[in-house]
Amino acid sequence: MFKPRRLWSQLWGLQGMYLCFFLHSQATGSSYPNHGHIPIGTLFNMDAEPVSRSALMYAISTNNELRKGGKGITFNMLSDDVDIDSNFAVTSKLCAQMSSGIFVMYGSTSQSTFKTLQAYSAKFNMPFITPDLSGTIHKEHQPQMLFAKPVYADAIVDLVKGLNWRRLDYVYDNSEGLLRVQHVYDRLKREQYGIEIGFRRIEQVESAHEDLRRLDYLDREKMRNIVLDLSSLNAYAALLRQIPEVGMNRHGYNYILGTLDMLSLDVSRFLHGGVKVYGFQLVDVSRRQVQTFLEEWQELEPGIWPGAGTNLLQTDAALSVDMLHTIRAALTAMIKEQRDVFHYVFRRGKMYNMNKTIGIQCNSNPPLPWMHGEQIYRALKQVDFDGLTGHIQFDEFGQRANYSLDIITAGLDTGLAKIGKWHSRYGLLDNDQDLPVDPIYPQQNYTEWRKVVTTILEPPFLMLRGNVEEDGSPLIGNGRYEGYAKDLAMEIEKRLDIDYILDPVTDGEYGREVENGSWTGMIGQLVSGKADLAIGPLTITAARERVVDFTKPFMDIGISIMTLKPERQKAGLFSFMEPFSLSLWVSIVIAYVTISLTIFIVSRFSPYEMKEHAPYLDHFRYNFTLCNSFWFAMGALMLQGSDLCPRSIAGRIIGGVWWFFVLIIISSYTANLAAFLTVERMLQPVQSADDLVKQAEISYGILETGATRVFFEESNVTTYKMMWSYMSSASPPVMVSSLQQGVHRVQNSGGKYVFLLESSTNEYINNRLPCNTVKVGPNLNLEGFGIATPHGSDLKESVNYVTLKLKEDGTLHKMKQTWWEEKGECGVDTGNKESKKRSLSLNNVAGVFLLLIAGLVVAIGTGLIEAHYIKTQYLKYVSTLDSRCLQHEYSNGNGILNKYIQS
Ligand code: ASP
Repeated sequence: MFKPRRLWSQLWGLQGMYLCFFLHSQATGSSYPNHGHIPIGTLFNMDAEPVSRSALMYAISTNNELRKGGKGITFNMLSDDVDIDSNFAVTSKLCAQMSSGIFVMYGSTSQSTFKTLQAYSAKFNMPFITPDLSGTIHKEHQPQMLFAKPVYADAIVDLVKGLNWRRLDYVYDNSEGLLRVQHVYDRLKREQYGIEIGFRRIEQVESAHEDLRRLDYLDREKMRNIVLDLSSLNAYAALLRQIPEVGMNRHGYNYILGTLDMLSLDVSRFLHGGVKVYGFQLVDVSRRQVQTFLEEWQELEPGIWPGAGTNLLQTDAALSVDMLHTIRAALTAMIKEQRDVFHYVFRRGKMYNMNKTIGIQCNSNPPLPWMHGEQIYRALKQVDFDGLTGHIQFDEFGQRANYSLDIITAGLDTGLAKIGKWHSRYGLLDNDQDLPVDPIYPQQNYTEWRKVVTTILEPPFLMLRGNVEEDGSPLIGNGRYEGYAKDLAMEIEKRLDIDYILDPVTDGEYGREVENGSWTGMIGQLVSGKADLAIGPLTITAARERVVDFTKPFMDIGISIMTLKPERQKAGLFSFMEPFSLSLWVSIVIAYVTISLTIFIVSRFSPYEMKEHAPYLDHFRYNFTLCNSFWFAMGALMLQGSDLCPRSIAGRIIGGVWWFFVLIIISSYTANLAAFLTVERMLQPVQSADDLVKQAEISYGILETGATRVFFEESNVTTYKMMWSYMSSASPPVMVSSLQQGVHRVQNSGGKYVFLLESSTNEYINNRLPCNTVKVGPNLNLEGFGIATPHGSDLKESVNYVTLKLKEDGTLHKMKQTWWEEKGECGVDTGNKESKKRSLSLNNVAGVFLLLIAGLVVAIGTGLIEAHYIKTQYLKYVSTLDSRCLQHEYSNGNGILNKYIQS
């Protein structure tokens, strides 16, 4: 059979052992020096569901998580499962825990062990908080005892009177019930209320058919009013199962259940037979505080947190949470009053009592009581705040004061419904009856409860960290998140000394007004009273300012353009060709050929170009042969010159203009070359909003709801108006429902989609992998993110002040650096610069080397061809000519030919 408690014990390896629950915190640099985790002792009934312990542990972990880094008191819990009816078991565990040092004890009690536990607490001055009602029957002074659970005996009396019952059977299952019925009886008698009461004790609640039948046979004809006062929820569940089985859910029967968890019981079989069931509900799930807690509680893994994972919060679990807050409130108040109150008794997680002994030793002689016990007990009795179980306050006897219970009924005519409430001071009240203003218990104007901070999961403002800490412990509460908004909330919390719980909006919206006048997103949470603060990338707008209050902006931003980062041009083999366009290269070649031909032709007709001593050979009569003309132009083009020189005026003019042409071309080439080889160009087709409007090829869009949309929708600037009319009617739609969607669209559109978003997110995304987006152009407007509070919130002024302080002392700047730059993944250089300088590499000029090699190869080839063919050609030629003439012509000039001839 599945036994949650056993599983729980195995999980933490604590069957009968101490459970030390440490959550990391360094208590340095705070107003809580050297305190570490304050140890509290706990004893739980081994037969009860482990939900109370689970809730207490959860409360401790969330508390410790919130106060990481020495921002307040953190706790460490020693825990034992005991047989709560065994005096020996409870005292030995209590002594063991006290001897290792605890500040306060939280533990179950029973009628049989209550007196013993109380005696030990009194003797050693150990404040003892109990969620059980043993000991509350009579209002009497019980030193060191604090009773977490509201007493409901008087509520039963008032309800009996309210229902005008004149006869009732009081059914109970343990001695505590017997004491309570005595109290009920005494009070009714004292108030001279005429009533007949029968007492029935059921020994075995699990098999109570016989007892019930006996009850049923008494006065069968009369109306039967029964009060069930049982020891546990399981006992109620068992009896409620058996009552219909013996037919006691028929018309004429009325029940009052002495439970504070009426809504946790299954009363479905009492909704039809004409029977009426009344009961009490302590935890009011309609309260925001409870709902916020339940949202977290529901998400917890029941395997790790027994009893969690449901949307039901049992009284015992809620009490555990409230009592932890009570302890924290009391200790905090003591530290506030006297900063070093625990300085000498608590160091590095160890508690030192008088005479420097560690802990409180039960066997010390004479007994050494806990030196701060009395003071802590007094502080505990003075707390005053609203918790999960309603108002938390204690009277002089350590019992709950000033609390109310909802009265729930189940019946044919009403179904399951709340019919009113019972208040400890005012008795029965109708549903719509307000509590009278209480002159004795004025509400203190501080509450110990956490502020709900609505926010939005938007990197880097708020991001999920996953489910477990690096050391494997589960992440809970605010520990699940990280980001700029969390850090900001933490700073505010630290400076204002408030607690907060981050509550990301479920609709994923920032806030817009919908048709019925209500608001969505973070603004909606504030307007509906579900949150106290909104911290996130929430833009201050006029419309929002109407319904909430904004602080001064904590970040200045503006709407900006995000595009895909263009591919860098890779250095190619022929990068050296890039300074000129292809057409220019072609034009240069054409010019070169034309000039060469022109100079050749001009030389042909000009007698100045004729050689003096070449009367015989037409072929060698001119300096500017076709080949030489090309060579001359080439020499000039390469800035090398050649031996040839035009002598005709026409030739010189041509030479002159060609040299000038070359001068300009070469200087332009040289000037451009360096830039082209060392700078990687990035072509950006869109640089501004105007560029976007002027083109049709690239689509652009914004976030569907939010301040950016409002900006375009309401702008009177022509460009933005045009952009809005395009975006609002584009098909397929260009607006996106989340920033992530917009960014993905930019990244996957191959440069055909541009996203307009606030500069903060734009800059952040550009600094994240895959680093392929870029912010271009200036911001379109000037906006700011502000922290919002509901109208009339008392936090408004203080949060505004803290925001300005954080701005002035550079905290906000540092936080921006942390989340935008230090956590960047793209390196510092990439930013939104369009190009980047670097030194020249072989890649950039490899083409020139190739050209050189090619030239050499061609030259060698040509050389070889010359060696073979030209030789034979010349020999053939020579043989046909007058050898003397030839000799005359070349004897001084051409050694090679001479050599050939002679050979
Ligand atoms: N930060 C914006 C807002 O508060 C969201 C946006 O429109 O980009 O609505």
